[in-house]
Amino acid sequence: MKKTLMYLAAALMFSASIAGAQSFPNKPIRLIIPFPPGGTTDIVGRLVAERMTRELGQPVVVENRGGGGGSIGAAELARAAPDGYTLGISTVSTMAVNPACSDKLPYDALKDFAPITNLAIVANVLAVHPKVPAKDMKEFLALLRAKPGRYSYATSGTCGIGHMIGEQFKVSTKTFIVHIPYRGAGPALNDVLGGQVEIMVDNLPSSIQFIQTGKLRAYAIAWPQRLASLPDVPTFAELGLKDVNDPAWYGLIAPAKTPPDVLRRLHDAAVKVLAQPDVKERFRAAGAEPVGDTPEHYAQTIKTEYDRMVKLVKVQGIKLDQ
Ligand code: GLU
Repeated sequence: MKKTLMYLAAALMFSASIAGAQSFPNKPIRLIIPFPPGGTTDIVGRLVAERMTRELGQPVVVENRGGGGGSIGAAELARAAPDGYTLGISTVSTMAVNPACSDKLPYDALKDFAPITNLAIVANVLAVHPKVPAKDMKEFLALLRAKPGRYSYATSGTCGIGHMIGEQFKVSTKTFIVHIPYRGAGPALNDVLGGQVEIMVDNLPSSIQFIQTGKLRAYAIAWPQRLASLPDVPTFAELGLKDVNDPAWYGLIAPAKTPPDVLRRLHDAAVKVLAQPDVKERFRAAGAEPVGDTPEHYAQTIKTEYDRMVKLVKVQGIKLDQ
């Protein structure tokens, strides 16, 4: 009798968990974007949220939680209930550079999250306000060398990927420019477009429209080859700056301990979205390559990037001057 009851209880629990997975999602999902509007995190996050809404049959509602170089939004996700109803966009900054820069972060990038998939690998760009009197990288370097410290560069924040690229650029070219961190690429771009700061180091999707319309002048992109959407802009590697030729990436993550069947449902939806031809086209036109890999593969990317950034920050002696 006791045994029968135990079997019954086990069978009930099993069918409850199947029912849970089948009914997920049965209410709206929050997607935390750890940077303000106007940046690439927002651009990637909003497109994916809109399409996942269609795939999942429930609204995926975007919430911008900028600040602290992405760490405020990432910490909020780490504290959220692991039920699949709060997700986040992960960036190189929140998962690798911030943790490499500081041991006082309010979350553990490698333990507090369940990676779902890498959404896109994204080109980076160094661009200036058109008033800067240098038509290409050669003239730009001559200008920087003639006036060390005269020019400043804006980025999405201290210990963001833009900051790392800016500092690597300084080391590789033996130049000195001053770093001005913002809460995200959106606010940083506002000041560069207005001419208050001359230089922008950004992820390409947020800057590309301004480059194509002449409001910014791009000197180089960090990408394996030139892009069809910016055919005249060389890669850093072409210019002999291999170490600066570093792309960024944006992924989808959930709090650690989110049930595996829920994670699988979210993964399948994200991968379907990334396979849609117009999504691919929109990413590619902006200088991003859709990914859609397995959670294991994405977790490995995060770990590899983290190890690399620890090295870049601590061992190679890149000075984080803010
Ligand atoms: N990719 C940037 C970073 O991780 C964020 C850009 C933005 O969305 O503002 O630093």
